[in-house]
Amino acid sequence: MKKTLMLALVWFFVFTQLSFAALSKHIVDYRIKAKLIPEEKAVIGEEILTWLNDSDEFVSELQFHLYLNAFKNNRSTFIKESKGVHQAFKLDKENWGYLEIRKIQIKDGPDLTSTIEYIQPDDGNKDDQTVIKVSLPDPVPPQEKITLFIEFYSKLPKVFARSGFYGDFFMVGQWFPKIGVFWNGKWNCHQYHLHTNFFADFGVYEVEITVPEEYVVGATGLRIKELENEDGTKTYTHYQEDIHDFAWTACPDFVEFREKYSLENPQVSTEMILLLHRSHLNQKDRYLSSLKNGIEFYSQNYGAYPYPTITLVDPAPKASGAGGMEYPTLFTSMTFWAMPKGLHLPEMVTIHEFGHNYWYGMIGSNEFEEAWLDEGFNTYSEIKAMEKYYGEDRSMTDMWGLKISDFILQRFQVIGSGKMDPIVKNSWEFYNGGSYSMNTYSKAALMLLTLENHLGDGVMSRIMRTYFERWKFKHPTTQDFVEVAEEVSGRDLGWFFDQFLYSPDKLDYAIGDLKSILVKKPEGIFEESQNREGKSQEKIYRNEVVVVRKGELIFPQEILIVFEKGEEIWEKWDGKGRWRRFVYFKPYKVKSAHVDPEYKVVLDVNFINNSRILKPKKISILKYALSLMFNFQSILSFVSL
Ligand SMILES: [Zn+2]
Repeated sequence: MKKTLMLALVWFFVFTQLSFAALSKHIVDYRIKAKLIPEEKAVIGEEILTWLNDSDEFVSELQFHLYLNAFKNNRSTFIKESKGVHQAFKLDKENWGYLEIRKIQIKDGPDLTSTIEYIQPDDGNKDDQTVIKVSLPDPVPPQEKITLFIEFYSKLPKVFARSGFYGDFFMVGQWFPKIGVFWNGKWNCHQYHLHTNFFADFGVYEVEITVPEEYVVGATGLRIKELENEDGTKTYTHYQEDIHDFAWTACPDFVEFREKYSLENPQVSTEMILLLHRSHLNQKDRYLSSLKNGIEFYSQNYGAYPYPTITLVDPAPKASGAGGMEYPTLFTSMTFWAMPKGLHLPEMVTIHEFGHNYWYGMIGSNEFEEAWLDEGFNTYSEIKAMEKYYGEDRSMTDMWGLKISDFILQRFQVIGSGKMDPIVKNSWEFYNGGSYSMNTYSKAALMLLTLENHLGDGVMSRIMRTYFERWKFKHPTTQDFVEVAEEVSGRDLGWFFDQFLYSPDKLDYAIGDLKSILVKKPEGIFEESQNREGKSQEKIYRNEVVVVRKGELIFPQEILIVFEKGEEIWEKWDGKGRWRRFVYFKPYKVKSAHVDPEYKVVLDVNFINNSRILKPKKISILKYALSLMFNFQSILSFVSL
């Protein structure tokens, strides 16, 4: 590397870091040296980790994730749960993956390697080696730091779930010994499950990545150094603060594109880095334009994107198991060379995975225990972003005359699902993958859209901004979001969240009955003071609308009743009972009735039964005939007993 370029990089690095000083409390500080050995499909690493005990307790053991051990054998919890299949990609039994700690010691102190013990805090599966504990000779006092030196060897599996290799494409994620989170007085360090994402503390990462020189490398954070080594390898150093994970990728067939992105309001200045596989060069503009849309949408709606880089990785063909995954400042998307223009899959995946920089990256909730705080928020944001940039009714598909929106696809998930789980639940305890994704992605997103329609766009937008601004870099929980929503809206929303977050039940309101009966002329003896509907010569109809609650969940409803001659009446119902009858005496008939006529309550699983039109008489006769027949059959069956 030329000296001038090197100096420029250092200057940029210092400038950038000064202008973005300490957005988070730095609990961890990782300095890692990693060397890719392509022939072994492995990474040899050295890690210096400094950990701050930010609690009030003396901590006498440390816990670490060894995520790659999920791919070590067919008895790991991940493989047992997945049966070797992840999103249609299959485990290759010739290419297992694992993470071996060769040495762990206190820096310049005692060797702790012999104290390593595998633990299984979630399911007690003794064959699972994705979490270890290490005993310390002396506890770490509150607010003190400990520095460890770790040597490790990461054997990458053939990629089928997030990280691994395919040929000479490498996606190196969940790859190094990673300390758990000491949270609420104890270690929160869950095993690697099929349906869990992650949880980690914020801090500083400086990682040196050494690869054969023909490899193109992308990694989390800003590249601060680039060195050519004498042995035909190159070393790239990446640095980033205020993140909680680090991933990288390497492949000789990547073509790198770099483009500056800036926005005035709010102020954003970052560099987009696209690593496009050679076979997908025709997809470049689709990726870059959707990435710009993502940065703009999230910055304008939630807060400015604060990092100096964002790297979009396009996995090699047949390595799509690595696609659609998020890491801080780096994510993988997916496409293929003949992707139809009207199918907005690369756009959706790019916007979704970029969006994780917000709800996973900066908010950093405990995704093992409350995945909806990331995936649900992100799906909600993705639906809105896709509508904005690709059309409300065609945001996902606009081809061959077929228009499908992202929103409709999410609704189908919810409509077609069972009632097995609520939204808030430990991720690995959901009934199955369908129930996990339906609840944490689709139902959670529809719940937020329902809340938005209930409170109004302006209030919801203030809730989301306030939540992001107040809780970024602080690991918020569901309760923290509920409190922000109540504070900003000035309303008690307990009734809403208690039902929609913690109950597996469904919401369904319908027009149960609609009829119009001519009121008979008064006959007999009446006092003068008695009200007699239809006493004049004009015809009077008793119009009756019955609204029913078919699901267990309760939501206040608006009802629109339309009469002949165009009269409209709007009613409100708290939705609490099982049914509510509305009666109107009019000189004309009711024409139709609609519960939630504007379809605001998007969690309602059946919109077809929301409306009813008064049926013409001949249909009534047919219905009458059918019911007579049914009764006749009932009598026959009774007689034949
Ligand atoms: Zn996601």
